[in-house]
Amino acid sequence: MYGHPLRTNPIHRDHGETVLWIRRCRECRALFAPQTSVCPTCTSAELAWMPSSGLGSIVSWRLEHHSVGDNPAEVMPRTIAVVELDDGPWIFTTIDGEVPPPARGSVRVRFLPHVPADGFPVFTVCHAATETTERGQRAAQCANAPTDLVPSLPSALHYDSVWIRAALQQCEVLARADSIDSTSRSVIAFAIRWAPFGGAGARELLVAFGVTRRRFLQKVEDALRPRRADTVTIRGLKRQLQVSLTQAWHSALPPSMPQSVPWR
Ligand SMILES: [Zn+2]
Repeated sequence: MYGHPLRTNPIHRDHGETVLWIRRCRECRALFAPQTSVCPTCTSAELAWMPSSGLGSIVSWRLEHHSVGDNPAEVMPRTIAVVELDDGPWIFTTIDGEVPPPARGSVRVRFLPHVPADGFPVFTVCHAATETTERGQRAAQCANAPTDLVPSLPSALHYDSVWIRAALQQCEVLARADSIDSTSRSVIAFAIRWAPFGGAGARELLVAFGVTRRRFLQKVEDALRPRRADTVTIRGLKRQLQVSLTQAWHSALPPSMPQSVPWR
């Protein structure tokens, strides 16, 4: 379902990087990340291109060091992030500049046109107050979304935006069933958001939870331990999340990255 956008999207080449292009399903009208080639909702392959507002919020991010040129010792830091676009889709991006600490709340970003990207589209942090919008509204919409259907997780081989969304939905189902408390919920949600990156680093964990990585993983395990009152379905959900998160956080390399990141 996913490929590299610059290789599979002719419009990207024609228009340069003036606009961030996303996809819309011609059948069900749902919006998706640029790499999507088949609609995950209705399985239609009829996807049109449309311009995105280019505004969004950082879901999670990580500083990576990648080699430049032929010398493997020559490395450059680069921030890659999952961004939730105001249009809806979640996409992988490269962030130009520094990302403020998570303690300050949601970080708003915007697409940077005309910046040559050798991987993901480039975004930058919005600093003006006028640039911050909609996040609260969208969060409220998400909270009201029906969750009586238990979502199933897509293949855990790729911890992409589709997987993150499904996993966060599962987390909500657990919370609504009173199977996890609010602390456990934030621990699980954090673990999910960091899964595409092979887990969070020591610094992020210290800032967010004041614990080491080992202690954090213990917290995840405790949060997902079955309770006496849990139904069979809830137990299944917990087990599924536990397996996926353990796999993601213990991988040496971020599982979703190798195919889509050209600089490796
Ligand atoms: Zn569709």
